[in-house]
Amino acid sequence: MSADSKIFDALIIGGGPAGVSCAVWLARLGFAPVLVDAKAQVGGLCRDNPFSDDWNASLPGKTSLQVADNLAQSLDQAGVPVWLSCPVHHISHAEFGFSATGASLDSPIRARNVVLATGVRARSLVETSLASDVGLGSSGAASLPGILVGPGAHVVAQDFRSKRVAVLGGGDNAFENALYAIEHGAGAVHIYARTIRAQQQFVRKIPAGGVSVGEYHVDAVARSVDGVAYDLILVFYGWEPCVGFADALGLHRSAQGFIATDMQTAQTSCPGVYAIGEVAQRQHPCVVTALADGVTAAKAIQAKIEAGQ
Ligand SMILES: Cc1cc2nc3c(=O)[nH]c(=O)nc-3n(C[C@H](O)[C@H](O)[C@H](O)COP(=O)(O)OP(=O)(O)OC[C@H]3O[C@@H](n4cnc5c(N)ncnc54)[C@H](O)[C@@H]3O)c2cc1C
Repeated sequence: MSADSKIFDALIIGGGPAGVSCAVWLARLGFAPVLVDAKAQVGGLCRDNPFSDDWNASLPGKTSLQVADNLAQSLDQAGVPVWLSCPVHHISHAEFGFSATGASLDSPIRARNVVLATGVRARSLVETSLASDVGLGSSGAASLPGILVGPGAHVVAQDFRSKRVAVLGGGDNAFENALYAIEHGAGAVHIYARTIRAQQQFVRKIPAGGVSVGEYHVDAVARSVDGVAYDLILVFYGWEPCVGFADALGLHRSAQGFIATDMQTAQTSCPGVYAIGEVAQRQHPCVVTALADGVTAAKAIQAKIEAGQ
């Protein structure tokens, strides 16, 4: 893919609800945005949730997959150029603004402003202190058979019937997915949690003796926890922001690694770089707040351009 020599008003990296919203608003305000996403379809995490989107009061009865399709349709209607299957690997300062490169780009994308809307990914076993326990290389536990990392469509696609399932983690995702495995016929489900942070509404539903609290040892290759063998191990160790490609910009980050922003404008510590949605952990993570963040950044970019900056 080639961007020729065009300089866009804004490069939006990430086509989840935050990035799509920002791109659509910029186009409607009369500017020239371009949106790139690493995946083959826009929609971001909405494509990982096959269930109804009950959190969005304006879309009763719609599934998250329908929300993702609506985002793609909105981009199309706004006439925003979109490059898919296009992971950005590096972004740096340039005399006109910013320059972004990626493996599937013949030439860098050039833009006056950049919007980081790259969301989060589920933490895998190798990114935790368990890495030494399991003796894994950088290929990660996610690629091992029977190890499922994070919630979403890949969990729903599993046949749990009669399977022995270990669930690692003490938050809502761990307990909700353990209950999902039980409801879908798992033979045995055991949760291993260092501490329990999940809501009591989920904790109360787990059968007696179904949770071990404290340190535990995982052997992901043998697929065992504390020496007990399982058919499936489900890992719910929280989320981390997808920001490594922007390291050269030296952005200020929170203690957890999320990009720090000004709440009013979504501006980062680098002028001309904005961060919206989950990568900046600005508000409660959901589609509605991500959409709102996209509007915030679009209006801030409009004000900056109209002020001649
Ligand atoms: C299982 C599940 C169920 C959920 N259910 C709901 C629900 O019912 N209702 C609700 O409101 N919210 C729900 N959420 C949360 C909601 O999906 C997220 O809060 C929202 O999608 C975040 O939007 P975002 O735009 O910040 O990031 P994302 O949706 O994560 O989008 C980020 C995009 O950036 C792309 N990207 C990442 N790195 C790069 C790179 N280097 N180059 C190019 N592109 C890149 C990714 O491919 C992705 O498409 C759910 C989440 C999950 C996981």
